[in-house]
Parts: sequence; structure tokens; C-alpha cells
Amino acid sequence: MKRLAVITGGSTGIGRCLVKAFAAAGYLVSFSYVASDSAASEVASEVEAKGGSARGIDCDVGNAADVKRFFDETTSWSGFAPDVLVNNAGVQTWSSLLDLEEGAWDRVIQTNLKGCFLNTQAAARLMIAAGKKGTIINIGSGCNKLAFPKLVDYTASKGGIEQFTKVSAAELGPYGITVNCIAPGAIVTERTLDEAPDYPETWSKITPLRRVGTPEDIAGPVLFLTTPAASFITGQTIWVDGGLFSQAPWPY
Ligand code: NDP
Repeated sequence: MKRLAVITGGSTGIGRCLVKAFAAAGYLVSFSYVASDSAASEVASEVEAKGGSARGIDCDVGNAADVKRFFDETTSWSGFAPDVLVNNAGVQTWSSLLDLEEGAWDRVIQTNLKGCFLNTQAAARLMIAAGKKGTIINIGSGCNKLAFPKLVDYTASKGGIEQFTKVSAAELGPYGITVNCIAPGAIVTERTLDEAPDYPETWSKITPLRRVGTPEDIAGPVLFLTTPAASFITGQTIWVDGGLFSQAPWPY
């Protein structure tokens, strides 16, 4: 039986890897993106070249009208409701609390947190109407529990995702829908390498497993959460960080 996975922010980085991983696992994959048209076409073509089926749709995850159109187009294409939603789309701005501009705060909260709400609500309504016991996975961050410097808006959004995950799990549990969060550690993507060319060396040193993660390190646990083996897990944050955010700061 065909299954549908919906991934937000599937054009680059971790989302791109998720699109390919779900397609390789036999899902139809619909993904959103907002700026990277050519990257989105490339990933859809790569999937199709391997015999899979993926479709990128330009959709701002934080805009309700866009999200409605995204799910309308997705379900007209697939012919059935989603089995899986991964809320992956996310943006960052770098600024101290004292300097942060209102527009940056709004963009980050709208994309990361409101986007998660709008897409979860739309997917869950479709899953419930179709009687599907779906799986929803939110991509968090170390910021779910720790204060990162110069990322106050991002940290607030990911802290919100932590609580949003728990409320969604509690409310959607009676319908058989699980909702969990995967919180990555330092993951090498085009974006993180652009921001810091020394990213792998710098973050490996302070990660207990002495390496940075890859998008594939995230895709594995995300897929695991969609399997029958994970069907009794809900409302949890799973840290996929090589131990990075389990360490206490220690003065000696
Ligand atoms: P990327 O910047 O590579 O990917 C972000 C994706 O989100 C892109 O596909 C982008 O599409 C999409 N996106 C951004 N804004 C919107 C929007 N308004 N509507 C729809 N899509 C949008 O980042 P990463 O792959 O590194 O990060 C992916 C997720 O993982 C994020 O939630 C991030 O917070 C989280 N994460 C990443 C870590 C890392 O080390 N890489 C660590 C911890 C968490 P487009 O290019 O078209 O704008």
C-alpha cells in the first residue's frame, strides 16, 4: 500500500536528505520550500531517477493560505491523506537580544513555530478524517533545552516546539497519531558550512562521539519513528547529537 510523507523545507540540508530517505523507503513524498526552486527541482528529479516519486511545492510554512494550498495540491497529487509529516523547515538569525530587530524575531517565530503549528494542524485534520494513525515528527535543536548565544529568537522557537510537541501528542494520541521531536546536534549541511568553514573540526572537539553529524544521522531516527517498533513512543524529544547536549558545564 502506498504511503505519503510530507516534509517541510525539503529543498536543502537535512530536509533534502529526508525527502530522499522517505522516497527510498517507498513513500510518495511531497515537500515544501520557499526560495530554492532549482534545488527543489533537483531533489525531485534525483528521486524520480531512482524510481521514486517526490514533488516540491513552493509554500511558506508560516502562511496559512500557502499551507492550505500546499496540502490541497499534495492530496490531489497523491489521492490520499498523509501518513507522515516532518516539520523540518527552519531559519536562524544571529543577533544579541539587545540588537535583535522585530522583523527578524517575527520571521523566525513565524517560520519555525507557527509553521510547525499550521502544518501539524493541516496534516492531523487530514489523518483523522481518513482514519489514519499517522506520525508527526518535529525537528528541534539543542535550543529546545539550552540557551544558545545570539540566537534568542531561534531558541524561543525551538523551546516552543518542545512544548508544542507534548501538547500535540496529548491531543492527537486518542486518534492514534504520534508526535515526537528529533533534536539534532551539530550537523554538517551546506548552511552550517557556509556559516563556519571550520564547523566540522570545531564542533567535533566538543561532541562526545568526536564527530559532527550528517543529515543521514537524522534521517535514520526520523524513519525509525514511523515504524511499528516505535508505535508506543509519543510526546518525546530524542537527542540525536553524539552526546553534545547531555554534558554539564563543569568548572574543573
Ligand atoms: P537549511 O537551511 O539547509 O534548510 C532549511 C530548509 O527550510 C530549506 O529547504 C528551506 O527552503 C526551508 N525553508 C526555510 N524557510 C521556509 C519557509 N518559510 N517555508 C518553507 N520552507 C522554508 O537548514 P538545515 O538543513 O541545517 O536545518 C533543517 C532543520 O534542522 C531546521 O529546523 C534547523 O533548525 C534544524 N537543525 C539543524 C541543525 C544543523 O546543525 N544543521 C542543528 C539543529 C537543528 P528554501 O531553501 O527554499 O528557503
